[in-house]
Amino acid sequence: MDLPPVLLSQDEISARVDELAAEIDRVYAEAGSLVLIGVLKGSFIFLSDLARRLTVPHRIEFIAVSSYGAKESEVADPVRLIMDVRHAIDDENVLLVEDIVDTGHTLAYLKRLFAAHDPRSVRTCTLLHKPDRTEEDVDLDFLGFTIPDVWVVGYGLDYAERYRTLPYIAELPPEMR
Ligand code: 5GP
Repeated sequence: MDLPPVLLSQDEISARVDELAAEIDRVYAEAGSLVLIGVLKGSFIFLSDLARRLTVPHRIEFIAVSSYGAKESEVADPVRLIMDVRHAIDDENVLLVEDIVDTGHTLAYLKRLFAAHDPRSVRTCTLLHKPDRTEEDVDLDFLGFTIPDVWVVGYGLDYAERYRTLPYIAELPPEMR
């Protein structure tokens, strides 16, 4: 199988995840509680690397939302929660962990949804952001990398379920879709 070209190498990702974990440790040092909520499936590798670098006590939850179709052009799906957290998050500090923010609709929806549960705080941590595609602004409290408007795969991100476990982030050229 031909492999798509590297946009962010394993070393670059690893160094940035170290920095993000250190930032999160600082912000939540005195918080007393922290629940990381990973958005499946794309965030599973990022979340597991990030969580293992944290020194502050935390617990892990996963949620799933309806996402894009197999093709980039099929983006008309409204955002919908298809799997909720297992345990109540009231009175917790919530950190939503996303793979990538594109239009911003998913993260904006999730922030509103979790804020309605009345937690102590809701912040966001996203590995990648495509600012050229923004349609809805949402505060990105912890951000790994800003990238151009290209389709990326690897490190948890897929294209029609392919390339998800590449160890780096690649730019998928149109001829490989
Ligand atoms: P948003 O609601 O911000 O438009 O979209 C967020 C979701 O779109 C991400 O969680 C991800 O599932 C998907 N997405 C957006 N851009 C990309 C991309 O370049 N590659 C992959 N694999 N997924 C993307």
